[in-house]
Amino acid sequence: MQSPLGLMVGVLVGAYAVLVAALVGSFINLAADRVPRGESVVRPRSRCRSCGRVLNIVDLIPVAGYLIRRGRCATCGVQIGASSPLIEGLCALAMLMAISLLGLARGAAAGFGAVALIGAIWVGTSVARAPIRRGGSRLG
Ligand SMILES: [Zn+2]
Repeated sequence: MQSPLGLMVGVLVGAYAVLVAALVGSFINLAADRVPRGESVVRPRSRCRSCGRVLNIVDLIPVAGYLIRRGRCATCGVQIGASSPLIEGLCALAMLMAISLLGLARGAAAGFGAVALIGAIWVGTSVARAPIRRGGSRLG
């Protein structure tokens, strides 16, 4: 029998794991966008590809940021692909389901495994679809 405090801590830690999964999803989108272009995933800060505005905290909230901006850049109005909130939501959902099914500790481990798999598939697909760049090791 779990104490009310233990249950509350469990729910908070679970919610935190789901939030972290969504943030990792956000990073997966960034990597899927930059890796095929041969850009760093660390610098510079995320910008709008259209107008160059540096994204702020509202833009960077997983899923909710997309909804608040209605899928558009707040400055130039260019449409942001729906894949960003989809990947973030998928990562959060994978974590939520894993914790619900397996409990906190094993669920979080399985959830992060699932998130890593989503990242590998999504970034790998983006690299595979990217056009071959000139000046690379491949002929072009
Ligand atoms: Zn813009």
